[in-house]
Amino acid sequence: MCGIVAYLGDRQAYPILIKGLHRLEYRGYDSSGIAIINGNLNLYKRKGKVSELEAFVEGKDVSGTIGIAHTRWATHGQPNDENAHPHFSQNKELSIIHNGIIENYNSLKEELMKRGHIFDSETDTEVLIHLIEDVQKNETLELSEAVRVALNQVVGAYAIVVISQNDNQRLIAAKKGSPLVIGIGENEFLIASDATPIIEYTRKVIYLEDEEMAILERGKEPEIKSISNIVRTPYIHELTMNLDSIEKGGYEHFMLKEIFEQPHSISESMRGRLRPGEGIISLGGITQYKNKIKNAKRIVMIACGTSWHAALVGEYLFEELTRIPVEVEYASEFRYRNPIITEDDVVIAISQSGETADTLAAIKLAKEKGALILGICNVVGSSIPRETHAGSYTHAGPEIGVASTKAFTSQVTLLTMMALMLAHEKGTISDSHHQQLITELSNIPTKIEAVLKTAPLVKEIAEKYKNSRNALYLGRGINFPVALEGALKLKEISYIHAEGYPAAEMKHGPIALIDEEMPVVVIAPKKGNYDKVVSNIQEVKARKGKIIAVVTEGDTEVRNMADHVIEIPDTEELLVPLIATIPLQLLSYYIAIMRGCNVDQPRNLAKSVTVE
Ligand code: GLU
Repeated sequence: MCGIVAYLGDRQAYPILIKGLHRLEYRGYDSSGIAIINGNLNLYKRKGKVSELEAFVEGKDVSGTIGIAHTRWATHGQPNDENAHPHFSQNKELSIIHNGIIENYNSLKEELMKRGHIFDSETDTEVLIHLIEDVQKNETLELSEAVRVALNQVVGAYAIVVISQNDNQRLIAAKKGSPLVIGIGENEFLIASDATPIIEYTRKVIYLEDEEMAILERGKEPEIKSISNIVRTPYIHELTMNLDSIEKGGYEHFMLKEIFEQPHSISESMRGRLRPGEGIISLGGITQYKNKIKNAKRIVMIACGTSWHAALVGEYLFEELTRIPVEVEYASEFRYRNPIITEDDVVIAISQSGETADTLAAIKLAKEKGALILGICNVVGSSIPRETHAGSYTHAGPEIGVASTKAFTSQVTLLTMMALMLAHEKGTISDSHHQQLITELSNIPTKIEAVLKTAPLVKEIAEKYKNSRNALYLGRGINFPVALEGALKLKEISYIHAEGYPAAEMKHGPIALIDEEMPVVVIAPKKGNYDKVVSNIQEVKARKGKIIAVVTEGDTEVRNMADHVIEIPDTEELLVPLIATIPLQLLSYYIAIMRGCNVDQPRNLAKSVTVE
């Protein structure tokens, strides 16, 4: 899940590389480093954030027009200076940056050590650059050929860029399982883990496929080939994203910006697809497979983390509207247990980044077993959408805060549209109910605007509970996953232990935790099992727990019992998760800020989980 960036052109590489690293810092921030060729190969690296690297290189020679840079999320070896990338080869003429894991690094390392190689770090990455040098020397190959031959000996995942002190004309890049984008500018090339470091310089990009490599030489066209040496003609994409959309835009943190962006991001997810006036939903990406999906015997949703919570909301939506049985799976569990999947199954993979390693591997497995694979992803051109048969992008815009907010509500929006479209096709929903839900879905962005106005109130509540050690989140039915997501948000950014539970399950265990110190957040809209939720609130009150209730505007019953209420506008029961999630995101954000936590880059986490 590291971030890689490389430059070759007429400009000074250093400022471009550093800026790129800042943009990619969401991918990991254990250490960072750069290597620039200027006669010598000057390499600087430092434990910690990119700003620490910048302070470290001050006054040192960072000139040169070709270089590579890396920001790390450690998999092999501690986050320290030695394990930071770039890594040198044995003779220090070659240098590499790498995102991924070389799984057979141990056996390769033993072989290389027998041949006299000495390693400075504990990383798998350093083994690869030593191997490349070893291949180059033993078989007297030119560098790109040595990279190609070495990669054929590697098991695992990689996005790499290699440079050589003896060749300031070329960057060699390759990819398998980790993302890599190549930008083609005027007399210059950029390489990065995603397009954000590139967009300022060029909109023309190539996405390498797995097991492909690129040889980028000054003044020449990019040369792309597979690692089995088959020449490929690259397809040049035109980027449409806009740079403003990836900057903070006046907000103190990306997370806050992204929370407040939700009326817009949800509208973007619906744009051109939801047409309330005509009473239709059209999801171009899956139209071709509409019949197959609506006749599926079963739908299996596969995801990790917050996307898994979106899938749970999806389960309620699909089962209620389409009457197709749904199973929701953690990708990491699904793939390791010989799952029963047949050609009659439809698999929906959900991932913000589209790079989640476990989800990617899980869908490859399901594909082999003959299932139809659909994707719901945010990052255009990422690996999961390229592996699926069809799918729909969420179009939520870049999400930089590590804790997912707008990506979640966009995933739920997409799942709602899919379920509604299929239910209509299948005839499991009446025309009038379909129309009613479509109309109400189109009103959700305005209703979220209203919920965002509760931010000052939520901030006051946060002040009261910022020192809590535990928190409980309760919800029933379609709001149970909202409780799970609320709890996850709190624990991941504020480090307060929190649990989400179906409200009625509380009596089977967690009720033992309740005392006057314990905040209990309850999602209690005036819908569905409202009366049952009211009883659950009573149970908490009887044990002196503190109730923070998310209620429908005008509610008086819960208001009389709760310590705090946050009102949300009334909506259809199936659409409540889209609205009820918002105050929970705000609550976590304010509590985390008050505790002095880094909300955009919480400890031990990274945005795009490209390791298993
Ligand atoms: N395996 C490499 C390391 O630990 C890269 C890690 C990654 O891409 O997340 O340094």
